[in-house]
Amino acid sequence: MTNNIMQKTMIFFLAVILLIPTFPVDAQENEVTVNVASLKVRSGPGLTYDTIGVVSRNDKLVVVDKENDWLQIKFGSTTGWVASWYTSNEAVEMTNKQVVSKANRLNVRTEPSTSSAVIGQLNEGDQTPAYKSEGEWIEIDFQGRKGWVNAAYITIAEQSENEVTNTENPIPEKLFVVSVDILNVRAKADLSSKQIGQVTKGTQFEVLDTNHNWVKVQLDNGKTGWLYSFYGTFSNESQSTTTSESTNTITILYNGTNLRSDSTTNSAVVKRADAGDTFEVSDKVNDWYKIVLEDKSIAYVASWVVSASNTIVPTEYPIEGTKQSRKKGTLKGLSIVIDAGHGGNDRGTTGALGTDEKDITLLTAELLSSKLQAAGANVIMTRQSDVYVDLRKRVSIGHQAAADAFISLHYDAVDNSTVRGYTTYYMHSYQKKLAEYVHAGLGNMISLRDRGTQPGNYLVLRENRQNAILIELGYLSNPTEERNVTTRQFREQATHGIYNGIINYFDNQLK
Ligand SMILES: [Zn+2]
Repeated sequence: MTNNIMQKTMIFFLAVILLIPTFPVDAQENEVTVNVASLKVRSGPGLTYDTIGVVSRNDKLVVVDKENDWLQIKFGSTTGWVASWYTSNEAVEMTNKQVVSKANRLNVRTEPSTSSAVIGQLNEGDQTPAYKSEGEWIEIDFQGRKGWVNAAYITIAEQSENEVTNTENPIPEKLFVVSVDILNVRAKADLSSKQIGQVTKGTQFEVLDTNHNWVKVQLDNGKTGWLYSFYGTFSNESQSTTTSESTNTITILYNGTNLRSDSTTNSAVVKRADAGDTFEVSDKVNDWYKIVLEDKSIAYVASWVVSASNTIVPTEYPIEGTKQSRKKGTLKGLSIVIDAGHGGNDRGTTGALGTDEKDITLLTAELLSSKLQAAGANVIMTRQSDVYVDLRKRVSIGHQAAADAFISLHYDAVDNSTVRGYTTYYMHSYQKKLAEYVHAGLGNMISLRDRGTQPGNYLVLRENRQNAILIELGYLSNPTEERNVTTRQFREQATHGIYNGIINYFDNQLK
């Protein structure tokens, strides 16, 4: 080796050594790791955007941009968006996010670790603000203090809209008329906020303020509260003008709602709208509204993501369930929606022994459907195969069919393998009776621990104007229970029990 070559080699290595520190820092900043089993990649930065693919645990994602809590990542030959709180091992701040517990008795801990102390528990449907995520843990507000829950047992939702200040929101109309038998009055513009009273059908209120889907009104006792505008109509003067005024407008319920070129989810997105935006309707095509945009161009929006202010509530509400031709012990003339929980990319919970919830909910739904059909019911299934169906679409299917009952089937899981039993949920008072009948029917047929009927803030119940219930048929997180409830014999008994409950409920309506 000559001196000349030695020199050149030395200079080369020096240059390499000097350059090294700059590379890895950049690379680390732009890369995150997926820390959940599967994570949806979406076409935009929000939960309402379409899913364009899925990435898996430990996948490394190259980040090209960031918007609030969403990361734009390289995805194949294109880019997509993922929720940042399911990536990386560093703490990620979460703004305007809430956690909703998917499980009963979910432990809230002092630290992001199962070895830390338990300070309390969340039950299914409990909602609370989220502060940040760290790996598989989410830091939350727990009764005014900070605590940590495992991300596997919660879902993340946008913070309720009342938290977002919206001072320039105009008051669209002067009066709001309640169109359901009983409507809860809430302290805040939020379904989970404290109930401070109830109002009845036909009551008119002056609109003091609005906040997206909520209307602020003053009650007889002088107190003010919020009503969910879904369950009433707006009018300019008095109730008599409501009908002539007929509504040819719809209001968007969710931020980032897709407006499309045609009445199908496969058609191009021409624009996005935010919660509270209103549009003139020119036509209705199946489940879609044809709307007129500001520039007078036409677009389509799915009916299950909007509220049509004057037309949306059917007159014979809530459901009477009595149809003349029906005889006791039969379901002839009744339409019943059977909703097999989860499906497709959404597996639901996974059992201690590996059962996917989405598989057994479908098997159970099929069996229940055949029993109900045999009794003369018109059965509508929200899915009949392993496909993903949006929760709002499921509700919309029930609304379209003017269903007499909507039965959602699930299996439970919780962060504690000893928890077991079955629970029947309802949300609105008009759903409670059906829940009680079906729960009693189940209790006569299955030997699981009875966890009772409970109100549960599930979207398929909450947004449902029909008689809807959600049944959790045992805990897959308990290995003994998982073995039991995944058998054909259990499904036979459980569906027989649900069937008996439904028959008894409708027989009782005939009296
Ligand atoms: Zn489920």
